[in-house]
Amino acid sequence: MTLRKLAAAIALLFALVAEPAFAQPSPAAAPPPPVTILVSIDGFRPDYLDRGVTPNLLALARSGVRAAMRPSFPSKTFPNHYAMVTGLRPDKNGIVANNMTDDAIPGVKFAMSNTLAVLDRRWWDEAEPIWVTAEKAKILTGTVSWPGSEAPIHGLWPKHWAHFDQSFSSDLRVDMLMAWMALPAETRPQFATLYFDIVDYAGHHFGPDSPQVTAAAAKVDAAIGRLQAGLAARGIVANLVIVSDHGMAALSDDRRIFIDDLLDKDAYSALELGPIGSIYPNPGHEAEVARVLTAPHPHFQCWRKADIPERLHYGHNPRVAPVFCLSEVGWSLTTHDYHPREPSLGDHGYDNAAPEMRATFIAAGPAFRHGVSLPTFDNVDVYPLLAKLIGVTPQPNDGTLTDLAPALTN
Ligand code: AMP
Ligand code: ZN
Ligand code: ZN
Repeated sequence: MTLRKLAAAIALLFALVAEPAFAQPSPAAAPPPPVTILVSIDGFRPDYLDRGVTPNLLALARSGVRAAMRPSFPSKTFPNHYAMVTGLRPDKNGIVANNMTDDAIPGVKFAMSNTLAVLDRRWWDEAEPIWVTAEKAKILTGTVSWPGSEAPIHGLWPKHWAHFDQSFSSDLRVDMLMAWMALPAETRPQFATLYFDIVDYAGHHFGPDSPQVTAAAAKVDAAIGRLQAGLAARGIVANLVIVSDHGMAALSDDRRIFIDDLLDKDAYSALELGPIGSIYPNPGHEAEVARVLTAPHPHFQCWRKADIPERLHYGHNPRVAPVFCLSEVGWSLTTHDYHPREPSLGDHGYDNAAPEMRATFIAAGPAFRHGVSLPTFDNVDVYPLLAKLIGVTPQPNDGTLTDLAPALTN
């Protein structure tokens, strides 16, 4: 057992042992306001709901609200998780990609696997996530591994938070959250997040149409059922907001673009390749790299960062690469010497207007009307919704409540 797992197990045990003493509400107390729980199912495409394996999610959608969401560009995990909790698109929230560099943070490459960077607030401080705003307002929060929540953004952590550990099962993550929910009112989170990544993992490794994705969707659905049962057993009334960060497109070996066929290896370095390409020309090769890559090509397009189309809302942040490329959906930018350890049969990061990149939104609880189906809206709108549910004043943001208003009880 790793130290992290041991710590999680001890925390869980402590909360469960302590639970009976905490669970008794005083008879005279007024009913507490509903808690808000934001759940992310990474890479859960809205059509996965039609596979016949997600009864809990479908029941929640029927009793509440359902929609497809447009992710923000690029349709990657960290940029979109941060967009939903800040209301700012990646270019403005500072998490412009899963992989990035910043001249102001020299010598570091931000990557999801670089734990030190993920814990470093400087990467996240360009925006204020909702849990920081809530903590400032003395509203307690708890995050089971929302991207960013392990760093003391603007100097504050959530009251309760957990390190991300991919090996934690979906059920364990629910139990970690429920352990906090069993605490006395003075320390129980009023706003909490949960994060599940097995659907995204299966989508990458086996493709969006695979039985493995369907099986992962079923497991997460069961974990959602466990969450609902846990809340019901404790008499906790919650507004549940269930989202995904993006969809998933099928890849194929026939749809690869080798940029080392176009450019000499000495001319550039690529910080990221795949659906998007972050290209840094080497000194002296700036004009050549830009000229070659920005010329018309089948199946992908590159821009000097100043020329990225306005509709993508991208390219103003210093962390965006000087030459930025985007593949056609289902295609990948790569090089001949890139040999991934495992084949990838699905990916995301593409144009956020692509239907394959659509994300899921389901919400239910006292704040929501029953049986509402909304037209597709932008995922930055999740932020003003959360601010309203939690009762905090939102920071300036790119979202609006206009599209969601018909789904709210008041
Ligand atoms: P993506 O490459 O965009 O598909 O990213 C999805 C992956 O991000 C998941 O499979 C997780 O392993 C990883 N991930 C999610 N949250 C975190 C986190 N807080 N820290 C490190 N990695 C994470
Ligand atoms: Zn993701
Ligand atoms: Zn992914």
